[in-house]
Amino acid sequence: MALNLEEVYKKAGALLEGHFLLSSGNHSQFYLQSAKVLEDTKRSELLAKALAKQIQEANIKVDLICSPALGGILTGYELARALGVRFIFAERKDSKMTIRRGFGVKKNENVLICEDIITTGGSALEAATEVEKKGANVVGFAAIANRGLCKRVGSDIEAKEECKLPKDLPLFTLGDFVFDTYEPDECPMCKAGSEAIKPGSRGN
Ligand code: ZN
Repeated sequence: MALNLEEVYKKAGALLEGHFLLSSGNHSQFYLQSAKVLEDTKRSELLAKALAKQIQEANIKVDLICSPALGGILTGYELARALGVRFIFAERKDSKMTIRRGFGVKKNENVLICEDIITTGGSALEAATEVEKKGANVVGFAAIANRGLCKRVGSDIEAKEECKLPKDLPLFTLGDFVFDTYEPDECPMCKAGSEAIKPGSRGN
């Protein structure tokens, strides 16, 4: 089954087109609202099953999935269900990623870190560091989509300098979304006279 991730996002109204101010400060014509993809529980289940299949086919043994809150929780939970394993999440307290709420990580457990979308992988890496501090082994990373900065299993797109994920661990995603982003000074949409908006600020 070839899953067309762009179709999935378009159908869900999760691939927005306009003139967006990204959290990096750069501008883009496109914005991905991954939470909208997961609004449909049937669709979430199918996506998680497709992701689980990739992980199983790669013979990666997973005991536990850990997601950085908030973005990764829905994807991680569905993926844990599809793989039949436990699920926990890491969250920021005073801007530092921590594992709280009595969630346990056992020594030598094999942990997969799951996000909704991987951009630089910064939060995923912080969650990985936290579970490793508890003696677990991080065996890989997963997400629905990859923004093309990191290299995913099965793609020819090489990792860029911005990617923070370790190169010796696999990244499983259902596809890549590679968009041009622009420094504000060089943005063609700004030059054409339009104003970049922060996604979410006008109900999107
Ligand atoms: Zn612009």
